[in-house]
Amino acid sequence: MNIDDWVNERREVDLPLNRTQCEVDFFVNARFHQIRYDDLLRHHYPNRRNHNYNLAVGCGIDVLAFYIPFHFHSAPRPWGIYIKDDGVSYLSQRFSQTVHQRIPLPPSATNLALINLLLHELGHFGVEMLYTELENVPALAQNNITYENHANEKITNPQVEHNEEAFCNWNVKRQSKFFKLEVENVEIDYYPIIDEFMRTQPLGYRDFPEISNLNYGNYVINNQVNLFHNDVNKTKFRRHLGLDMATRPYPKVPIYLVQSLP
Ligand SMILES: [Zn+2]
Repeated sequence: MNIDDWVNERREVDLPLNRTQCEVDFFVNARFHQIRYDDLLRHHYPNRRNHNYNLAVGCGIDVLAFYIPFHFHSAPRPWGIYIKDDGVSYLSQRFSQTVHQRIPLPPSATNLALINLLLHELGHFGVEMLYTELENVPALAQNNITYENHANEKITNPQVEHNEEAFCNWNVKRQSKFFKLEVENVEIDYYPIIDEFMRTQPLGYRDFPEISNLNYGNYVINNQVNLFHNDVNKTKFRRHLGLDMATRPYPKVPIYLVQSLP
């Protein structure tokens, strides 16, 4: 089955096993609508002084953005990447405050915030696509390697969840070229700010520096790295992790802007 098959299947998603506390908390009082990336860039983000976010514990950066998989979705909450509007302003303010005095501010710290959020959430999408690919390998049918099993394992075994979060932040690091922005005709690399920020996130999230091009398979397919090496199309996998998946004119991953009630 592919994305469309899963979407058309319209499975009932609200199985307690598959809903994490992070997801429940994220959607409290949330209103959202689908949005294109260009409109995300143009959006006027609310400027609230007292952001009530603590990214050092619990769900890390996933309190600002969240990924709903196509395996488990329902009509009122379709699959895709959800981004909180005041989460973007929280992050851009935080980045602006960290920028060293000698380094000019980027034209808009909003770009840095959006790219950081999208690359992390695309990590979750990539993991789901990887399991979908394995589900479709007939020879593996008896191994019961499914996204559903993986999702359940994340809840019962915190290490599995930590590994996925570390992988998602590694995906941000892996594509650090997107944090190089031109300011007054000079290219400035803002990635060090993002790196520092990711190291302040909870266990798992902050473990991304342990990951490399050689061991990332261990982090996405736990304890079965042989399957990753033998049965996964690496080129396709890396494409799914790219910013293009969410930002090109006809994206594969829908984006939703979540307006938080003040
Ligand atoms: Zn995450």
